[in-house]
Amino acid sequence: MEECKINLICPECKKILRRRDSGTLECPACKTLFAVEGNIVSFLGNKGAIAQDLNYYQQWQEQADATSKQAENYRKYFYSHARLRNIYARLKKFFHAKIKENSTLYLLADYFVARKDIFFKDFFKAKPSGFILDLGCGRGNDLFNRFGYSVGIDFNIDVLRESSYNLLIQGDILKLPFEDGQFDYIVSTDFLEHIPFARQDIFYRELKRVLKKGGYMAHFVTTDSRIFWFRFAHRFPELFQKHLIKAIGGHYGLEFPSRLIKKVEGYGFKLVHKQKMLWEPWEFILRFDNEYKEKSRQIKFIVNFMRRLMKHDFIFHLVTIVVSIFVRIYEALMPVDFSNKIGVVFKNL
Ligand SMILES: [Zn+2]
Repeated sequence: MEECKINLICPECKKILRRRDSGTLECPACKTLFAVEGNIVSFLGNKGAIAQDLNYYQQWQEQADATSKQAENYRKYFYSHARLRNIYARLKKFFHAKIKENSTLYLLADYFVARKDIFFKDFFKAKPSGFILDLGCGRGNDLFNRFGYSVGIDFNIDVLRESSYNLLIQGDILKLPFEDGQFDYIVSTDFLEHIPFARQDIFYRELKRVLKKGGYMAHFVTTDSRIFWFRFAHRFPELFQKHLIKAIGGHYGLEFPSRLIKKVEGYGFKLVHKQKMLWEPWEFILRFDNEYKEKSRQIKFIVNFMRRLMKHDFIFHLVTIVVSIFVRIYEALMPVDFSNKIGVVFKNL
C-alpha cells in the first residue's frame, strides 16, 4: 500500500488505526484487525453484523451489471452498412474524446451518455485539488483522479479491484471509517436512491461528519417524478414497486427532488446548484417493456418505437442529437419535480 493520506478509524471505537508490521491495520482499542490488499482496506471481513446487507448489496451489484449490459445490448445493433458503421464509430470516438475537454460540444455528441461526466466536470471546475470521497464507487470514475486524492467506498471488493482510485475501502457507508472533516469533496453517482429511508438519517449524519466545513458534495441521483410517464407508472402501485423500485437493485430511497433537497438541507447543507434531467431514451425500454406497456397504447407505442430506433445505432444517434436539443430546453424550463434525475451540489455550512 502506498502512503495513505487519510486517517482511518475503527468503525466501532472511532480510534485511529495503527499499522502493524504485517501490513494489516489494527484498532488500538478493540484490537480488531483490518485486512489490506494493495490499496484496498477491508472493513467487512467475514464476520460483522452487516453480512445480511452484504448479500443484499451483492445482488444489487449483479442486477446493476446485468441492466447496464442489457442497455448496452440494445445499443449494440449497429447499422448494417460496414462503411457507415466505420465512419460513425470514428466520429463517436472523436466526439467522446473532445467532450471530456470541452463542454460546449455536448450537443454534437451523445448528451444522454455524456451528461454525468459533464455535471461532475463542471462541479470541479475552478475548485482547488483536494480529498474526494466517492460513495458506492463501484469500479470508480477515472475523471475524479484528475481533481485530487480519490477515495472510494463500496461493499463489493471485486469491483474495487478494478478501480484506479488512490485509496479504496470495502466497508459500510453507514459507518464511514474516516476521521471527522477529512474530505473536501463528496461525490456519488446513481447511489443516494439506493439508501433505504430508514437508514438515511444515519447516512446523512455520517456525510456531515466526514466532510470539511465549507466543503462541497455533488450527487447524481435518480428521483421520483411528476412527469406524465411517472404519473402513469404510479397508477399501478404493484408494477411501480416491481419495475421502478425493486428493479436495478432497489431504488428504495426514490423520492421527489424538492423533498430530497429539503431533507439534505435539514442536515446543515446548502443547495448551491441543481441540474434537472429527464430519462435517457433507453430507460423507457428498461422500465416499461413489461406488463406496463399492455396498460397504455401510448406507452406501448413509445417502447416499440425506441426498440426499433435503437437497433440502428447510427440513426439513433442522429435522432438523439436533434431530440436532445429540445430535451435540454425543456429540462431547463420544467419544474424541479418533473425531473427523472437531478444533479445536486451542496455546500457544508
Ligand atoms: Zn475498535
